[in-house]
Amino acid sequence: TNHLSERITNMATSATLEMAAKTRELRSEGKDIIGLSLGEPDFNIPDFIKDAAKQAIDDNYSSYSPVDGYADLKQAIANKFKRDNGLEYSINQIVVSTGAKQSLANVAMVMLDAGDEVILPAPYWVSYSDIVKIAEGVPVEVPTSIESDFKMTPAQLEKAITPKTKMIWFSSPCNPSGSVYSKEELEGLAVVLRKYPNIFIISDEIYEHINFIGGHASIASIDGMYERTITVNGVSKAFAMTGWRIGYIGAADWIAKACTKFQGQITSGANAIAQRATIAALNAPVSKIQYMIDEFHKRRDLVLELLGEIDGFKLNVPEGAFYVFPNISSFFGKTLKGSIINNASDFALYLLEHANVATVTGEAFGNPDCIRISYAASEKELKEAMARIKAVV
Ligand code: PLP
Repeated sequence: TNHLSERITNMATSATLEMAAKTRELRSEGKDIIGLSLGEPDFNIPDFIKDAAKQAIDDNYSSYSPVDGYADLKQAIANKFKRDNGLEYSINQIVVSTGAKQSLANVAMVMLDAGDEVILPAPYWVSYSDIVKIAEGVPVEVPTSIESDFKMTPAQLEKAITPKTKMIWFSSPCNPSGSVYSKEELEGLAVVLRKYPNIFIISDEIYEHINFIGGHASIASIDGMYERTITVNGVSKAFAMTGWRIGYIGAADWIAKACTKFQGQITSGANAIAQRATIAALNAPVSKIQYMIDEFHKRRDLVLELLGEIDGFKLNVPEGAFYVFPNISSFFGKTLKGSIINNASDFALYLLEHANVATVTGEAFGNPDCIRISYAASEKELKEAMARIKAVV
């Protein structure tokens, strides 16, 4: 008998983490797997941030921190919002959490009641739908396609709205598609949203700096959107600090207060040392991390070029993040080396077993025609991986 709760029994395992585990397993069997499944920069944390963490240890930052984060970190976040996004948040509108993942979970738990609908333009980040479900919300997927650069149009948004719609969640730059909503495109969505004042927005901007076109736009900066937008960000991607687990929100003060109340019962304040290091990261000019952004840009071009040479891969041109999301549906129904490819999961598994390259099925992101390939890997690995893929398809 199953003694586990229905909640956990019905929850999907994170597909990206599952692929990482499978990769580790195959490697331990001696297979030479190139892992392109994880959303993790392959850079080291910049030295000036490491130094701040070392200093924090010596300065004895060892006690519980305030639940919502150190006041001077929240001030650094407020300054960052103003500097990079033109957003005015006071420090009582900011909550620091153990990664943006916890920020998202906090918001779901404090905003959603059972049956509340959350619009997710698909493809969306793998955890959104399960976080919504844990909070007893109902994910409502709005499929987009490569033809619209995987972006939701105002008409699609309006069509998905029902009297039960409580929120819309999206990321720009988008994981997994790399799409970036321009200010004009966000204005278009805002025109619809202004008609529905009770709909809230999660704007997940964790890839903000990994943007190859410049000009990141925050929906909270658009007329009428500020009060109802929860702007989510963090240091995992831009500063290569994934393991240090710091994320944050800027939101209306009553939402921030509720998140703090919830977080106070389940985890308390985020890691003290990592919070101190985050102050150094956010106070630094963006030019300090430009070398990573430039490198991602170069790799994106390389991967697009190499995948472009493979028949059957249909690609958009991602403008940010560090993923490509090719449509590989032309392989469906075909038999490759004795394996029948019926869907994107079959295809990702085929690449793992025959090319020794780990990717992630698009099904996990709400798009069953695509796979996600992370290019947060060295140029050498990327070249080798693309050559291997080419050889088996
Ligand atoms: N949001 C998006 C779109 C992501 O891709 C990720 C990480 O993969 C996160 C949030 C979570 O980031 P964190 O490491 O801050 O929990």
